[in-house]
Amino acid sequence: MTTGNASPYKNHIGGQWVASASGRTYPVTNPARKNDVLGEFQTSTPDDALSAVDAAQNALPGWSQTPAPARAAFLFRALEILRERADDIARTITMEEGKPIADALGEVKRAMNIIEYSAGEGRRMFGYTTPSELPNTMAYTMRRPMGVVAIITPWNFPIAIPAWKIAPALICGNTLVFKPASATPLSAVKLMQVFHDAGLPPGVLNLITGPGGSVGNALVESPGVKAISFTGSTEIGTGIYTEGARRLKKVQCEMGGKNAVILLADADMEKAMGGIVQGAFGSTGQRCTATSRLIVEDSAYDHFMDELIERTSKLKIGDGLDPSVDISPLASQAQFDTVMEYIGVGAEEGATLAYGGHAVTGGEYDQGYYVEPTIFTDVQPHMRIAQEEIFGPVLTVFKASGLEEAIEIANDVKFGLSSSVYTKDLTRAFQYIDTVESGMVHVNAPTLGGEVHLPFGGLKESGVGQREQGTEAFDFFSEVITVYIDHAAEAGERAKFI
Ligand code: NDP
Repeated sequence: MTTGNASPYKNHIGGQWVASASGRTYPVTNPARKNDVLGEFQTSTPDDALSAVDAAQNALPGWSQTPAPARAAFLFRALEILRERADDIARTITMEEGKPIADALGEVKRAMNIIEYSAGEGRRMFGYTTPSELPNTMAYTMRRPMGVVAIITPWNFPIAIPAWKIAPALICGNTLVFKPASATPLSAVKLMQVFHDAGLPPGVLNLITGPGGSVGNALVESPGVKAISFTGSTEIGTGIYTEGARRLKKVQCEMGGKNAVILLADADMEKAMGGIVQGAFGSTGQRCTATSRLIVEDSAYDHFMDELIERTSKLKIGDGLDPSVDISPLASQAQFDTVMEYIGVGAEEGATLAYGGHAVTGGEYDQGYYVEPTIFTDVQPHMRIAQEEIFGPVLTVFKASGLEEAIEIANDVKFGLSSSVYTKDLTRAFQYIDTVESGMVHVNAPTLGGEVHLPFGGLKESGVGQREQGTEAFDFFSEVITVYIDHAAEAGERAKFI
């Protein structure tokens, strides 16, 4: 294995690990042990970003003209390397982002799935043929790469989200500049190393670390970048979409969520409780698809809430590297501060703190950003904790008289990413499917996750631009060209039909 890189970790531009022209680096620490520095990373500048764009442009003719099945061979090699390194990379995710090791392994598996799925597309990459309205004319469509694509990603899935952008973008023949979140550059370096070791030609995938406001923005503004795939907060995504649109770039933004579970009185208790606890508190609530609202049919409210609090009280809190831990630390001081602030807001707004609500302290907990799983009841739809994305282990609970009121509450937010209903009643399940405002809809399953061969994304302020994953990903990362061929033997025949 080529290691190629060690702290201070470098950018990867044009096939080489290179330092930023700034000469500056920044440290990244383990959220379970604040004093453990995982490494130093480049504080890159807009000029570094532009040199990565240049490298990607130089690599574009060669990569875009490589047949798609041959491009797929690189992805299959990357898949095998990632499989070999899965345990090491999962540990890196846990040490850098904080999530429990089982979730980190699941994340690496998800990345492997999307690489495998995208590599398979190398032998499809379909266009279509259709009869022309003219005689002696053939009409068909084909795909071409977009050009240089900027990939801008958040910290909460530091391997899977980059992979589900990079793999489909590569198979479609684009060359890339990847700007990971500043909080999780080590995972990004390890993913870059996988593609480097798979033999990807120099400049096809470039990695650059550093602040989004300067490095990310330079990519958004660069005329050399033709498309932008962004995942992150609604606030930053809105700015990127606006700036991209002004420059007529193709942009997709996957953004925040405030995902609701509707729990109807006839629901299966085991299924519902398992899904709600996992959805709300798994990965410490730091998933875009995490369950942050629970809307309970009031006739079964007490029965369900007693059980939910009982199960929540059994969750084990600790370092994510311990396989018996359910709730690990929040990812950073900033995350910790935000979550604690929202817990304060909930209390001030008059919601009832039914469980948790405190930082976990003492002994090893003082070393990390630990917060108890927290449940607010008596939440009203207008409250900030009911409307804003908290992005931590905080569940807000509402009562509803029945399905109609529950759907009204579920839809009464600016977000629309994922949602779920628990019921045994098929009629009510379909009523929910047809009216709930979210891009991903679950029945008797948690709000989480998704399979890579199905589209992933949200409505309203949760998503704009084409969906990720599924065949939609290949649509985003390619231009569709329409071809008309007049194969008549003689001129003039065509004109009389126009
Ligand atoms: P941010 O929006 O803060 O950052 C996302 C990325 O954008 C980072 O790489 C960041 O860099 C970069 N960035 C910041 N400012 C700019 C700018 N002006 N121009 C270009 N790039 C910029 O999100 P977080 O990293 O905090 O991630 C959490 C958010 O992501 C949550 O809202 C969550 O819901 C959402 N998310 C959505 C998903 C979905 O599929 N819908 C999936 C996962 C998360 P830097 O780190 O240097 O600031």
